[in-house]
Amino acid sequence: MYERAEARIDLAALRHNVRELKSRLAEDVELCPVLKADAYGHGALHCVGAVAEAGADRIAVATAKEAVLVRSVAPDIPLLVVGALAPGEIEMAISAGADVAAWDPGFIATLAEQAQAAGLVVGVHVKYDTGMGRLGTPDPEQVLELARTAATHPNLRLAAIWTHFATADEEDTSFRDLQRDRLAELGERARREFPEVKLHAANSAALIGDEACHFDLVRPGVAIYGMDPFGNDPADHNLRPVLSFHSWVASVRDFEPGMSAGYGRTWQAEAPTRVAAVPVGYGDGVRRGLSNRGEVLIGGRRYPISGTVSMDNITVDLGPDSTVRVGDEVTLIGSQGEEAILAEQVAIPLDTINYEVTCGISPRVPRVGLGAQAG
Ligand SMILES: *Cc1c(COP(=O)(O)O)cnc(C)c1O
Repeated sequence: MYERAEARIDLAALRHNVRELKSRLAEDVELCPVLKADAYGHGALHCVGAVAEAGADRIAVATAKEAVLVRSVAPDIPLLVVGALAPGEIEMAISAGADVAAWDPGFIATLAEQAQAAGLVVGVHVKYDTGMGRLGTPDPEQVLELARTAATHPNLRLAAIWTHFATADEEDTSFRDLQRDRLAELGERARREFPEVKLHAANSAALIGDEACHFDLVRPGVAIYGMDPFGNDPADHNLRPVLSFHSWVASVRDFEPGMSAGYGRTWQAEAPTRVAAVPVGYGDGVRRGLSNRGEVLIGGRRYPISGTVSMDNITVDLGPDSTVRVGDEVTLIGSQGEEAILAEQVAIPLDTINYEVTCGISPRVPRVGLGAQAG
């Protein structure tokens, strides 16, 4: 039996999702899965190989350290760092052979100096803020200026002009369409000067939602992990959940009415019942907000998390006639028989999104890769 808890990473499902998304693209559109934040909590080291094998053309990450990590297992795959880099991180990113995002003249100057010092030519993706209001420049003239700098400096290479959608997961597509059209318009102008420059914009939701958002490259994150960018059932888009999260029953005890389980006595037995203690808690990423609200699967049945989630344990009301025994597997995310708990469902009582649920599984939980063989 494993220690406390483990997250299983179904690499066959990951490969399936990558192929599924790739099948939605025109021949000449690059697929650039996003493996930032340790592959959305799935364990980037497990995921890189499967993603590359299934047809990723490039991998995106958010930080220089993440680029180094991916490079350590994928010596050849093109990389893109989409996040902001501190001057002290630039060398790490470019030594890993990553392209970088830029939207500021001072940053481009520092990047060029460091590229020159390292004797490298660095691909630059100039970020155009078409409406996210976060990173990037909202000024199209400045985008073109930065593109010129990247195109003319001997240690820089103009790779792309790109943007990021703020609302691609929403039913109302009008703002997404506005952002898309802004990029398309500027892209047309840029291509008169730089015929080779690529354009990219699409996250998972835009990849699935609108082919006109694909441009030359797409950057799906959440969908490659088999989660639904729209927060519904990933099966709607032929995506298979990659991560499952498990622990096991460490104790089963009979409770009389009035007995309580856990800190603060927030749950008390109303009738005779049995209560399981499971050695997984908020220290592992089972959010405390699931106290008396979450569910788990044991023996193919759903049971409520009863009582307060503590750092190392949860308690589960099994009902009076339960045959659950010490050592039985407990599934917090994933399926048992006909029953399944999706990350999308865990997110609901927490008032959050599937992304945060898997990113929140803490480093204390080992990630175990399954299905490493191609297929
Ligand atoms: C995280 C991220 C993505 C992927 O978004 P999903 O919604 O997970 O598909 C794409 N582009 C950028 C710039 C990102 O930061």
